[in-house]
Amino acid sequence: MKNFILFGPPGAGKGTQAKTISKTYGLVHLSTGDMLREAKDDPMFAPYMSAGKLVPDNVIVEMVVKRLKKPDCSEGFLLDGFPRTLSQAQELDKFLTKENKKVSAVFCILTENEEIVKRLSGRRVCPACGGSFNIDSMPPKKEGICDLCGANLIQRKDDNPDTIRERLSVYDKQTKVLIDYYEKQGILAKIDGMLTPEKVFEQISDYVKKM
Ligand SMILES: [Zn+2]
Repeated sequence: MKNFILFGPPGAGKGTQAKTISKTYGLVHLSTGDMLREAKDDPMFAPYMSAGKLVPDNVIVEMVVKRLKKPDCSEGFLLDGFPRTLSQAQELDKFLTKENKKVSAVFCILTENEEIVKRLSGRRVCPACGGSFNIDSMPPKKEGICDLCGANLIQRKDDNPDTIRERLSVYDKQTKVLIDYYEKQGILAKIDGMLTPEKVFEQISDYVKKM
């Protein structure tokens, strides 16, 4: 059985890897971000989300456990965005143990933060059509102008270097304890995230082969 967890900071290409992993191994991709967006009107979450508050650990765990009980998860799953705290990780283990299951591997995409800052701060998006460019790796034909529709490109507030550094440091703090937790269990796979998406996935599939 393949019960996977995927960790990766903003800008590490986690979304692409999640898609490839779930497609290659036929696993359900469970993104808690997507689940929360879909559940925003659910009475269980609405009080927190409408107030812009953080959904408490036990509510998140309840949501994930409920989802993991569905039949499509019986052959395996890929968790993305969960667990975020040590208590969530422990609750997940408790639930899986009861079901006679366990986490089989935790893929942790490692990056060099300043390289991520460079990548993300080069991003320019089109407010009109949603087109996305990068001044270093995928520049528009005409500087500052969308190739697709001709509108002026903008830099999102989230993509300025200080905001990116702040997000990366929050991520590092949050995941450190989880990395230790899974490393002790001997199921942590450290993945070099500074390579091409193909090379990043190669490391993941190599690890799976050796499992
Ligand atoms: Zn456009």
